[in-house]
Amino acid sequence: MTTATCAICSVALTRRWRNYRGVLVCTGHSDMPTCTFCFAPAPHHEHNFRYCTRCRGEAVDDNTARSIAAEVMTRLSEVGVTFAVRPTFRISDGTDRPTAFEGQGVLGWTSSRSIKGRPTSIEVVLRRGLTTEECAETFAHEVGHAYARSYGLRHSLLEEGFCEAIAYFYLLQYVPGSEAQRQRIIKRADDYGDAFRTAATTIRSDGITTLLSQLRDDPATRCPATADRCSRVKRSGTDADFTTEYASGGNP
Ligand SMILES: [Zn+2]
Ligand SMILES: [Zn+2]
Ligand SMILES: [Zn+2]
Repeated sequence: MTTATCAICSVALTRRWRNYRGVLVCTGHSDMPTCTFCFAPAPHHEHNFRYCTRCRGEAVDDNTARSIAAEVMTRLSEVGVTFAVRPTFRISDGTDRPTAFEGQGVLGWTSSRSIKGRPTSIEVVLRRGLTTEECAETFAHEVGHAYARSYGLRHSLLEEGFCEAIAYFYLLQYVPGSEAQRQRIIKRADDYGDAFRTAATTIRSDGITTLLSQLRDDPATRCPATADRCSRVKRSGTDADFTTEYASGGNP
């Protein structure tokens, strides 16, 4: 029987180690910066993200990200997410993100401009180097903002909940194996989580098209903003959501 080795330092795992979704690492690396995506120790720094060995391997190239985005647009337009002003799309390494979006974990953002409350342009930006699931989830969330902005809407809590609900809906319908990711949306303990649960209640009782039209037709959601932005930050969660700790005698 061969002894399992640490994914970071290659030392044989005989005393204590942790299992990060199948990647085994000695406990001695716990003071290393953590992965932007999953909290594992992250020896790689690329595209302005921290990556563990596994997430770095799962990061997609720009062409793949573009085809994932195109697929999300097609699927969502089939359920009624269509635009008064069609958004443009680009991929960024994050260095050009507006100062309002400081922070390690910004995965994407939406900027819009309007004149006298009428939207004139909308841009959705996705960070370079996301994993397949993060691309789909983040892009679906931002497309929610693009939809809202294209109708001149702004209602911060309802809108965030709506965007999270679109991301959840997309993962559920079109991304097999995204259960863990959906659970994190459901369980999120911050404002995004609260807003999601509110929006999800409407989707469950009346369907996504009702939520779409609610958002579009409710005058309370209108606001004459001239420039507006929203960023999507990495999932909240704790180390414990992603790891199992083993001591010698456990099975790596
Ligand atoms: Zn090690
Ligand atoms: Zn990771
Ligand atoms: Zn958002």
